[in-house]
Amino acid sequence: MKLDANVEALVASGALFVANHSGGKDSQAQLIKLLEVIPPSQMIVAHACLGEMEWPGAMELARDQAVAAGLPFILARANKTLLEMVERRFESRPEVPSWPSASTRQCTSDLKRGPIQREVRRYAKANGFKVIVNCLGLRAAESPGRAKRKTFSLMTISNSVNTWYEWLPVHDLSTKEVFGVIADAGQEPHYAYAEGNDRLSCIFCLFGSRGDLRNGRRHHPGLLTQYAALEKHTGYTMHMSRIPLVELSA
Ligand code: SF4
Repeated sequence: MKLDANVEALVASGALFVANHSGGKDSQAQLIKLLEVIPPSQMIVAHACLGEMEWPGAMELARDQAVAAGLPFILARANKTLLEMVERRFESRPEVPSWPSASTRQCTSDLKRGPIQREVRRYAKANGFKVIVNCLGLRAAESPGRAKRKTFSLMTISNSVNTWYEWLPVHDLSTKEVFGVIADAGQEPHYAYAEGNDRLSCIFCLFGSRGDLRNGRRHHPGLLTQYAALEKHTGYTMHMSRIPLVELSA
């Protein structure tokens, strides 16, 4: 992988590179690519644990890839689950949609981004890093919104203690290239892809395709029941299509 001048300078200055890893294919390919160019002494792998909401095996895949590369693995946990978050929001403001949406992605901020940043700050402090490069496996091919994202930027959470940058190392890769990177490294992606999943992370995601939601239902009918009960209780639907999950995953 060819590095741009900004990233090259950060490697040379000893910055800490954080490979965010959901257990999905893009995170997996990202870590493979990062290992080609970032010294392991400057890299950690971070995973946000989503508990029962997450595909089983996702955390293990991230952890095992980190361990195999000899990298520290950081597990970040929020103080609530996605369903608890929805329930609390409904209790405090029943008049507004209780579930996260494309414009209010409280799930990403409260369950992933926030807990990971908290753990990374701790790690940086304990290990003497001041500059952090937050690496995300977001790709342009995923959505028009992601296509517009800058591949390198200063993050607004930077302060007098830590300077944070965001870097998207696999932004330009196609889906086929991502699977190619994983295969060329002699690795296997998470088993849900072989079942036809497009995306991983939450079993039932607000952006999930019908195929992903059907797979989720087939493997985790009990979880579907919990989501459906909360849709009924709140009067709002989970999915961005606004179609009830039971119908969408049928
Ligand atoms: S996978 Fe989907 S539902 Fe889960 S945290 Fe991410 S955006 Fe939210």
